[in-house]
Amino acid sequence: MPQLLYGTVTNYINGVWTSEEGGRYLDVESPLDGTVIAKVLMAARPALDAAVEAARKAFEQWSKMPIKERVQVFFKYKYLLEKNIDELSKLIQTENGKTYDEAKAEIEKAIELTEFACSLPQLVQGEVMEVSKGVECRTEKVAIGVVASIVPFNFPAMVPNWTIPNALALGNAMIIKPSELVPLTMVRIAVLLKEAGLPDGVFNIVNGDKEMVEAICDHPGIGAVSFVGSTKVAKIVYARSTSHFKRCLALGGAKNHLLVMPDANPAMTAVNITASMSGCAGQRCMAASAMVAVGSVDHIIQKLCEEAGKIVPGKNLGAVISRQAKERIEKYITEAEQQGAKVLLDGRHANVAGKEGGFYVGPTVIDFVKPDMAIAKEEIFGPVLAIIRSETVDEAIAIENASPYGNAASVFTQSGGVARYVAEKASAGMIGVNIGVPVPREPFSFGGWNESRFGVGDITGKSSIEFWTKLKKTTVKWNPEAGVNWMS
Ligand code: NAD
Repeated sequence: MPQLLYGTVTNYINGVWTSEEGGRYLDVESPLDGTVIAKVLMAARPALDAAVEAARKAFEQWSKMPIKERVQVFFKYKYLLEKNIDELSKLIQTENGKTYDEAKAEIEKAIELTEFACSLPQLVQGEVMEVSKGVECRTEKVAIGVVASIVPFNFPAMVPNWTIPNALALGNAMIIKPSELVPLTMVRIAVLLKEAGLPDGVFNIVNGDKEMVEAICDHPGIGAVSFVGSTKVAKIVYARSTSHFKRCLALGGAKNHLLVMPDANPAMTAVNITASMSGCAGQRCMAASAMVAVGSVDHIIQKLCEEAGKIVPGKNLGAVISRQAKERIEKYITEAEQQGAKVLLDGRHANVAGKEGGFYVGPTVIDFVKPDMAIAKEEIFGPVLAIIRSETVDEAIAIENASPYGNAASVFTQSGGVARYVAEKASAGMIGVNIGVPVPREPFSFGGWNESRFGVGDITGKSSIEFWTKLKKTTVKWNPEAGVNWMS
């Protein structure tokens, strides 16, 4: 048995790495070349019980600290992310398969998310008002207790950092369940949080799969569950957590439509859409997946193919997560072709010299896709752009509106009126005008609509404060002269 590059990943409970007698382990493969780089424990319910108990105890002290003291940990954590950015980026690249620059961008985003958490003392002050003579009402935002964060494979650092700094700075203790496909980055994050001064037990990791997710949803010691992943699992997690009367915010999959008008700037549109469909090998919930071409836009499509043709697997295009993902993506392309769509740029059977075992799909552009084809309706999660032709902007909007998802929608045009019209009519939580990946940056919040998000509010920014806290309302009367009034 060859030595594994990253050894064995176990659970992190109360500041200690703990294994399990007779535990089940999964191989972790690097999508870059298909080699097994680590093994990860698929932990069972007793590990979760231990993590919840550790978090419950740590919460007692942590939640009592003033928020201005708690955020000091995150000032240090931000510095440590900056200091370790190169090593973290290489680790993300190895376990996820994205390019080094994309991995580095994840850490840069994690830094921005942490900066926001550091600003929370300025945002969470309560309110106070004399509501009747001598009677005062005040509100304060109080931590929930032990909370859980269940995360997907496509952003091993950024998505966990959507939840970690905010939830913890607001006084909660957390249990995170990384994706079993990419468990390694979270090991380094735990080490950095400890180095930053986070008390043991405030942050815990349980590794596992479906069984562990279900145990989290059911656990009576967990007060809130955040989830990011596919819509199929988001529905399961939302239904199961709320059936146990927990609050839950579950972000699901996406099928993002980009409407391209004939007056769009060809070069800018081509560059933006190419970056959106191919970035992170198309494995972003904000990726361009369907381009709705309105009227005569052949000149833009031609430019787009030229741009997409510059994207080379293994150079400026990373791998997709697994062999199954590669096969699934290629199947969608083949099916669309068999149904009459025209493959303008074909990424099937991509190979990278020296990395023949890697899971690569080249950039793919398919024209004349019909709205009822699977490739037009389903989330592909690969570097594939389906072009659907439409005669009018209203027809294009109807195509976008028909999708059950609602993460992002963009319009490319030089007309302010058309941009406003599409922004108003699109059924998505995040809208772009001449932007291929319209991710709102802090302090604005991230979250889709429809089947891209279940629950109330968003997962980052100001909106997340409501999710990670509960509001306490205190009414006070000290002076007896205030007498009896209707509030007494
Ligand atoms: P996934 O749903 O397969 O897995 C997400 C998490 O759920 C993982 O931790 C996994 O272990 C667990 N899980 C998987 N199957 C389960 C089951 N049957 N029951 C209970 N738990 C289960 O998602 P993924 O493949 O890791 O990530 C890709 C998906 O995530 C895409 O659909 C993408 O759009 C979505 N995503 C959405 C957002 C967003 O903000 N809306 C962000 C990132 C990723």
